[in-house]
Amino acid sequence: MLRALSCRQSTFARRISSSSSRHSEKNHRRQPFVAVLVCRRNFFSSPKKNTKSNNEQNFRPNFVARDRGLGCTSVVSNPQEVPSPDGIVVSRTEQLRKLQEADEYDVLVIGGGATGAGAALDAASRGYSVACLERGDFASETSSRSTKLIWAGIKYMGTAVAALLSRELLTAPVSTVNEFWGEMKMVYNCHRERRFMVEKQNHLCHWIPIVIPFDRWHISPPPFGHPLYGLFPMVAPLVLKFYDALSWFSCPPSFVLTRRKIPSIFPQLDAAKLKYCAVFYEAQHNDARTNLAIAMTAAKEGANICNYVEMRDVIKDEKTGKAIGVMAVDRMTNQIFTIHAKKIVFCGGPFTDSMRKLEASPNETFKPAVGSAHGTHIVLPGYYCPSNFGLLDFNTSDKRFLFYLPWQGHTLVGTTDTKTEAETLPRPPEEEIEWIVKESSKYLKFDVRRRDVLSSWRGWRPLAVDPHADEGGGSVSRDHVISEHPTTGVIFIAGGKWTTWREMAQAVIDHAVGTEKASCRTLDITLWGGEGDIDNLSIELIQDYDLSEVTAKHLVKTYGIHALDVCKLILPTTSSCENATNTTNKQLLAEDHPYIKAEVVYACREYACTIEDILSRRTRLAFLNKEAALKCIHKVGSIMQRELGWSSRVTEQQIKAAEVYIESYGGGVRPQQPIIKINQEEVEADNNNIDDAIQQQQVA
Ligand SMILES: Cc1cc2nc3c(=O)[nH]c(=O)nc-3n(C[C@H](O)[C@H](O)[C@H](O)COP(=O)(O)OP(=O)(O)OC[C@H]3O[C@@H](n4cnc5c(N)ncnc54)[C@H](O)[C@@H]3O)c2cc1C
Repeated sequence: MLRALSCRQSTFARRISSSSSRHSEKNHRRQPFVAVLVCRRNFFSSPKKNTKSNNEQNFRPNFVARDRGLGCTSVVSNPQEVPSPDGIVVSRTEQLRKLQEADEYDVLVIGGGATGAGAALDAASRGYSVACLERGDFASETSSRSTKLIWAGIKYMGTAVAALLSRELLTAPVSTVNEFWGEMKMVYNCHRERRFMVEKQNHLCHWIPIVIPFDRWHISPPPFGHPLYGLFPMVAPLVLKFYDALSWFSCPPSFVLTRRKIPSIFPQLDAAKLKYCAVFYEAQHNDARTNLAIAMTAAKEGANICNYVEMRDVIKDEKTGKAIGVMAVDRMTNQIFTIHAKKIVFCGGPFTDSMRKLEASPNETFKPAVGSAHGTHIVLPGYYCPSNFGLLDFNTSDKRFLFYLPWQGHTLVGTTDTKTEAETLPRPPEEEIEWIVKESSKYLKFDVRRRDVLSSWRGWRPLAVDPHADEGGGSVSRDHVISEHPTTGVIFIAGGKWTTWREMAQAVIDHAVGTEKASCRTLDITLWGGEGDIDNLSIELIQDYDLSEVTAKHLVKTYGIHALDVCKLILPTTSSCENATNTTNKQLLAEDHPYIKAEVVYACREYACTIEDILSRRTRLAFLNKEAALKCIHKVGSIMQRELGWSSRVTEQQIKAAEVYIESYGGGVRPQQPIIKINQEEVEADNNNIDDAIQQQQVA
């Protein structure tokens, strides 16, 4: 038995060793055989605690992706250590070191989307020792693919009232009223969370007025299948006032837009077709950035949080069957190590069941907990929408809500809702792109053209039930579910919304550790980037770094006070106005987009590991314009090669992986443009400038 085990181990070690050396021959000059040695140590040495179980011994590394599409980002690149983003939060390398060396955490969170990063922040800020693993980049799944609204749920208010005023009120009055209160309480909580985001995190979130156009006074057949909703056009202003009241009027007040005023506010709307518009407010954000801000704040509070570390197995106590830790792999080096914890919390969003399968024992009947429905969004040029007003069509041809919003200088339209199994690549179905294009044109003066779709993607909404509840006790819900496995003690949380990330984190950590020792304090925490006064920061940046206004504003909106740290990575100039424009243009990553090259360097400090991280989430270029993102791949690869010490072979593989991933976004129907390879000398010169700037900063 022992011989068999050691034989398996050495086969595995050879695989790791050859894979590490294959992928990082140049890195070995910088870090000779570090990955291989660390890996051997972790795998061969007895685990940190004397709790080695059967499960641990039987662990067989499996490098096959567990969820569809996952494999394409896992380029083993053995990145070199880069400085931490602010000198306080530790670097990714240090995070890994701590993960490998820690004895036992109070809480181990698996998943670094909005929910997982939020849970790590909550537990760390209560003073618990916490680790959090994310197998891709932070927000690489659902949390970067939302409609970007922090919303209080006007739709849920509608469905709740429709359910209350139904025949069931007579046949089953108690359960109908209970359901109504449950749903209204959820809407009320969403209002509280929305207020927290806009007031406390105003560097990440802002109000956006949303127009509801009415082209008739009575709708037939009525929305939500309830005759009263046919009258919605007549009572909408009153309903929206009630919606405002649920937030204690903390949002700007809803109002009516008469037909005469429509052209000056929303010139794209065909006012002649409309009776009037009702306008209400929700909040908007850059979801991937908010997720990163939560993760960085968790790190600041002391959480060991790391991206590209995947849980591959659950370690259980042989006698009790209780989960005591996990086997994890750093996907950037293929190092395998164990992490032990008192409490394990799965925050896998639509991938919760693939985590739970690792936890389940072979003789257990596995009941799925999460169903998933995908939603597709398309992105159109900014001129399709005013820059400061969005639109909601609550009565599309198949009765789904459709948002039409200005976002990052573009127009974001979505979403659909189709039940499918979750995968990790964005691949949107063409028929859904076409459906959105068609529906978008409904109230406009012109048709939206399919060929104007610049990018398109889909994300999977986790719809959760409690598999450990009594038979028949659960139902598919948009609210979240928290459940604990009776034997292993592993807790999972799934469902909910972006809006409720903080509330969900509080609930799951309360469940995991109770409130006796410390209660939740996240309502008092300002997220990463909001630590200083940013009111006039964009002017400061324009003056000190000769940035264009659009770039300066983008930097402040994205990084908050850390925009200064980003700008320190560009060489300041004292040149004239004319030269200043030139300077900005040279710094740009892509024409007509505000992103600059220094952001790539800074992103590496904020734990970015792949080219795709930069193009999809650290900037949002791939989400906004697929072709522009494809054109930037080499440029970004070249900067990351310098920053992370990639060999040329690794760089090539990273480029290939990014091409595969970004090709999976939907885009225009024009014939594919060839990928433009940029001038290598120009890139080298730029990199030298960045290196100089880093050195200057370090000397300073
Ligand atoms: C199309 C769409 C639009 C939406 N719009 C809105 C909106 O406008 N407003 C709103 O409030 N909500 C919205 N939502 C809902 C919201 O986006 C989600 O509820 C939220 O992002 C879920 O976050 P999560 O952390 O639970 O899941 P995810 O973001 O999916 O995170 C789960 C993470 O677990 C990781 N993981 C999986 N397996 C492992 C493993 N073995 N080891 C380590 N990590 C692992 C994954 O990589 C992933 O990053 C929308 C959802 C969709 C699909």
